[in-house]
Amino acid sequence: MTAGYANDWEVTNDAKLRSWVESANASDSDFPIQNLPFGVFSDSVNASPRVGVAIGDVIVDLGVLAREGLLVQDADLFARSSLNALIETGRTQWRALRVRLSSLLDARNTELRANADVCQRALVGQADACMHRPVDIPGYTDFYSSREHATNVGAMFRDPKNALLPNWLEIPIGYNGRASSVVVSGTPVTRPNGQIKLPDAERPIFGACRKLDLELEMGFIVGASSALGEAIACERAEDHIFGMVLLNDWSARDIQQWEYVPLGPFNSKAFATTISPWIVTLDALEPFRCQQPEQSPQPLPYLRHAGPHAFDVALEVDLRAAGEQQAQTISRTNFRLMYWTMAQQLAHHTSGGCNVRVGDLMGSGTISGETSDACGSLLESTWNGQRPLHLACGQERTFIEDGDELILRGWCQGDGYRVGFGACAGQVLPAKETA
Ligand code: MN
Repeated sequence: MTAGYANDWEVTNDAKLRSWVESANASDSDFPIQNLPFGVFSDSVNASPRVGVAIGDVIVDLGVLAREGLLVQDADLFARSSLNALIETGRTQWRALRVRLSSLLDARNTELRANADVCQRALVGQADACMHRPVDIPGYTDFYSSREHATNVGAMFRDPKNALLPNWLEIPIGYNGRASSVVVSGTPVTRPNGQIKLPDAERPIFGACRKLDLELEMGFIVGASSALGEAIACERAEDHIFGMVLLNDWSARDIQQWEYVPLGPFNSKAFATTISPWIVTLDALEPFRCQQPEQSPQPLPYLRHAGPHAFDVALEVDLRAAGEQQAQTISRTNFRLMYWTMAQQLAHHTSGGCNVRVGDLMGSGTISGETSDACGSLLESTWNGQRPLHLACGQERTFIEDGDELILRGWCQGDGYRVGFGACAGQVLPAKETA
């Protein structure tokens, strides 16, 4: 046990750590030495996708370090187009790897720094790299766990006096989404075509979505599988989480409104889901653990866990309107406001015997705060298009237009540093011609 820490691996979270990678020490860098998120990248020198860790404005190519004997892992583990094999090695292994990388990148350690040849091959500028989807995702589930979001939607489409449905306070509501269309930040998103029922028409039309929206979410990546037929206990659920990403659950509101009865969203949410390229480990988020909102009524026993299980992640939505250079922040909120915790979502998901697999992606649900400038969707901030946003560039928006780019950002604010997620961005392209 290292002196002063509850656990050996917590040395990696010390706010006083500094790196010899100078750009990592800037107070506004998303990737200080305390973060060390994992991703998959390629570059013009080596077009093979491979595993790396972000620090400051560079990526550390873990395969290079392994081949030089600087890591205990086999280099083959990192010569992959996904993190699944690394995650499969288990929590003890990723923790040990994180501790080792923290040490190698520490300003006090010359082991790697002094070897100019290895550094030259192992450090790749983020500006020169192409990021890939970091995990193979066997399944994607999306929850609906923000009380403010569920209340806004209920008030808009049902009854403001009974906005929350009676099951909402008992169940972390969710649905099984599509994993095949999860894309990494930077991938363009084509406006979907679909069935739309216009208010005065008797039958639907088939055409381009007219109410394209974003959903500001976070997602977690399952880090340990569970067996079919076996429930994960709420108290142990975080042991099954590898880390987190930002997630934009693009939504076609007009298609959704017509199709969602009675089985829930289908094509309206299946056309694309964007995630940020870097997976921030739960270990890196540990200093930002905080108390979740009080739950009343008390959840059923299988959904109970003692202590804090929320995480303090500041979130922002930026919109760069079509034809503009400058993006504008249209929403600010925080992940800590979520009513149901990730542990409760996972306990509930497996409570009937459904198994989860390494790489599974679980979306939090749209994250909204209490005010109109803290909404995680345009549906809420424009109240279904009734109150347009007036952007500083002079344009107006009710929903997303072709050419618009949406950029999600998130970070945990530490003392003099921040553990950030990078950007989760996507530009909308026009719909395909219909027959
Ligand atoms: Mn969603």
